[in-house]
Amino acid sequence: MTYTKQIKKVLVANRGEIAIRVFRACTELGIRTVGIYSKEDEGSYHRYKADEAYIVGKGKKPIDAYLDIEGIIEIAKKNNVDAVHPGYGFLSENIKFAQRCEEEGIVFIGPHSKHLDVFGDKIKAKQEALKAKLPIIPGSNGPVETLQDVVEFGETYGFPIIIKAALGGGGRGMRIVRTSSGLKEAFERAKSEAKAAFGNDEVYVEKYIENPKHIEVQILGDHQGNIIHLYERDCSIQRRHQKLVEVAPCTSITEELRQRICEAAVQLMKDVEYVNAGTVEFLVSGNDFYFIEVNPRVQVEHTITEMITGIDIVQTQILIAQGNSLHNEKVGIPLQNDIPRIGFAIQARVTTEDPLNNFMPDTGKIMAYRSGGGFGVRLDTGNSFQGAVITPYYDSLLVKVTTHALTFEGAIAKLNRNLKEFRIRGIKTNIPFLENVMQHKDFLSGEYNTSFVDSSPELFV
Ligand code: ADP
Repeated sequence: MTYTKQIKKVLVANRGEIAIRVFRACTELGIRTVGIYSKEDEGSYHRYKADEAYIVGKGKKPIDAYLDIEGIIEIAKKNNVDAVHPGYGFLSENIKFAQRCEEEGIVFIGPHSKHLDVFGDKIKAKQEALKAKLPIIPGSNGPVETLQDVVEFGETYGFPIIIKAALGGGGRGMRIVRTSSGLKEAFERAKSEAKAAFGNDEVYVEKYIENPKHIEVQILGDHQGNIIHLYERDCSIQRRHQKLVEVAPCTSITEELRQRICEAAVQLMKDVEYVNAGTVEFLVSGNDFYFIEVNPRVQVEHTITEMITGIDIVQTQILIAQGNSLHNEKVGIPLQNDIPRIGFAIQARVTTEDPLNNFMPDTGKIMAYRSGGGFGVRLDTGNSFQGAVITPYYDSLLVKVTTHALTFEGAIAKLNRNLKEFRIRGIKTNIPFLENVMQHKDFLSGEYNTSFVDSSPELFV
């Protein structure tokens, strides 16, 4: 079956840097762009970076404006939009939104709703991974209903364990339990937090892996059934399970382990006949790796993969949605074994948070804004310019700095230089913290894992 769709106009159902990132990809493909913005985002950069922009979610709370499915569909229909790109967060994994787009004949630039269904729920995802014979972390492999189930799990597998919300995301909805005495409270809290944050109190349990690396594999799939990987990213520099700095490729795994991980990711995505961009996430401990979840969307850190492979992931998402094969002339991605992997790339997320005050988000007007640049440097701008007003309503990502060089040391040197070139006045940022990471011996040696940030107080000075 051949599948083709004409896409001349794309609405980006998002804000900030990812909205601008998608607009840029569209413009380069000759596609007209439509932005949406909330009342609170009237002066935000992404509004002015679109060819046309419309206010959405009038009268709704700031976050809810970008979750206003019918409001967004209405704007899309009124303005002859052919396709919607959801970015990350907000509606990107919302099955109802994908289905509403489909019903209205608007292309949803992402996977099928069946993939959102399987991968939006971490329990279903684990079961799918098990079917595909991927190594998974010993766990309940299904929802845990009673405290007794959790107690039995702890007794069988030993502590520590981690209780996770089935619908959790963004580093939220997880509780580590180190002794049986803390179980009752942790279980009850995990359930009530899951209900409050994700509208569903389903939780599951798995063994807590001490000091793993977080390694994830970028996947692309087309409607012709081709699935490829674009190597891995090391996202172990995290604070409270949220990524801060990402590196591609991982500097501390063997070529053999890299291959096993990437092949496992491809296997799973082939089994589910995945389409569009997605990421398969793993925890790595020594020479072992374990599946944790799939993110069925573009990720914040996709930039580093683009830098080492030269493949524009967002443009490819759009071209796939139009029905192109990954390997046709228009897309031009080589066959798997010929996909380039050149040098090293690092992304640092510059946020408007104060590292000296427990990463407290700062708000207010940016009085001065000057950034770096140069060879091998890429800046993905959010609401980052002189005069921009940073509000407390949305996530605090200000600009992503990505550098690329033939050596890891070279990429670090470029990142360091760029962090030093920034002059941002009027608002606090986490730049001093990022500079400390770039100079830390564990980062330089590649010998870091997911507990690096929490166990390194010297990063916070
Ligand atoms: P989210 O969807 O919120 O990003 P993930 O399942 O991807 O959640 O996990 C985020 C992070 O939480 C991982 O990168 C890792 O640091 C930690 N984590 C999750 N599960 C485990 C586990 N079983 N053992 C140790 N750390 C874990």
